[in-house]
Amino acid sequence: MADARSGNLPHASSRKRSGAADDLDGGGEDFYKHPKKPSTLMPPPTSAWGDHDPAAALASVRHEFGEHGGVNMSIEASATFTVMEPETMRRMFAGELGPDRDFFIYSRHFNPTVLNLGRQMAALEGTEAAYCTSSGMSAISSVLMQLCSSGGHILASQSLYGGTHALLTHFFPRACNITTTFVDIRDFDKVRDAIVQGRTTVMYFEAMSNPTLMVANIPKLAEIAHEKGVMVVVDNTFAPMVLSPARLGADVVVHSISKFISGGADIIAGAVCGPASLVNSMMDLQQGALMLLGPTMNAKVAFELSERIPHLGLRIKEHCCRALAFAQRLKALGLKVVYPGLEDHPDHELLASIANKDYGSGGILCIDMETEERANKFMHILQNDTQFGFMAVSLGYYETLMSCSGSSTSSEMNEEEQRLAGISPGLVRMSIGFVGTLEQRWEQLEKALAGMK
Ligand SMILES: *Cc1c(COP(=O)(O)O)cnc(C)c1O
Repeated sequence: MADARSGNLPHASSRKRSGAADDLDGGGEDFYKHPKKPSTLMPPPTSAWGDHDPAAALASVRHEFGEHGGVNMSIEASATFTVMEPETMRRMFAGELGPDRDFFIYSRHFNPTVLNLGRQMAALEGTEAAYCTSSGMSAISSVLMQLCSSGGHILASQSLYGGTHALLTHFFPRACNITTTFVDIRDFDKVRDAIVQGRTTVMYFEAMSNPTLMVANIPKLAEIAHEKGVMVVVDNTFAPMVLSPARLGADVVVHSISKFISGGADIIAGAVCGPASLVNSMMDLQQGALMLLGPTMNAKVAFELSERIPHLGLRIKEHCCRALAFAQRLKALGLKVVYPGLEDHPDHELLASIANKDYGSGGILCIDMETEERANKFMHILQNDTQFGFMAVSLGYYETLMSCSGSSTSSEMNEEEQRLAGISPGLVRMSIGFVGTLEQRWEQLEKALAGMK
């Protein structure tokens, strides 16, 4: 499909329309958009992000001030947008005028506030563009439907989030005639062999897998995919800031913003980060999966999330620091702990070689309690007796969240699929929170372990 809107870089500046006529010269990306102090500073080119630090990249995103000079941007709470001249409407629909020049049509298409969160997500992941959606699942399903056609084939990791696994196993074959082969992505020969020439268009995996915390060798997998002209789509929900898949060769990075990036366990949201041409194609009025399936993010939600991105780095560091401390101490007590920051984790060295510096090894750890019964007893004590955390699915919350993966978030997978993905029935996944002191929390964990005897 010819991309009529590919000229509309969705990460370009917004400008207030002034005077009687539509400002058709547009353009001019301002680093700071201040209503009272217009600046001509330009954002640094993407290549300036040589030190691979997502925090530095985030600080380089143009800061949007509010309409009245407020330090925070204004929320563009409009579903629809006016023009001064009827001719402008025709040109917008023809794709000649777009959000890069501050021409907006309708908020299921582009919205300035949602676009601003997209700019932050693009900076976080080091991609040319990004656009946010109403959930992680809608980001995943939309991007895969954009990149695959009926009769197409996806090569995916066998260790995936349960919802994604179900989408690929059950929904896509039925609704879209798109099939998936699941492989162990640590076996590069198997990966290579599973690519069907002429049919496979996407390789899909999680940077750090749910719940087994397997780390993907992104550079190697991207090399294999690109040799055969296959696009690499990586779910980085478990490791924002820790890993930058696009910097390691991935073409597209998807997120469930509902987890670490939100941090509040109060919002469901997602994002697709990738080339501007892809984001624009997803917004195409005739062929765009986001435009036509419509999993749109609300501008008020986008604003709230934008305000949380500046402290994402601080939160991630604390999640990771506590997860590492607990993993080390639990291991010293003789427990079966899965944490990629531990030297005995099979992907410890791989992670160290591809992770961004100084963020840590992720905020999730797993404890194998052998049986589902022991896992349930352990979680019951941790929540109801020692107040260590909450029994709940999801992750990235400021409190610790615990779930038994086999009977919850991975229950979409059958026994054999779980075994292949390395999920034992007693595996307790913990998303380590950062409230309270580390020693206070450790005491609660130790007390619960003593209660297991
Ligand atoms: C939660 C999650 C998703 C789905 O995201 P939603 O925001 O719940 O739709 C996808 N991938 C991973 C790894 C997840 O943890």
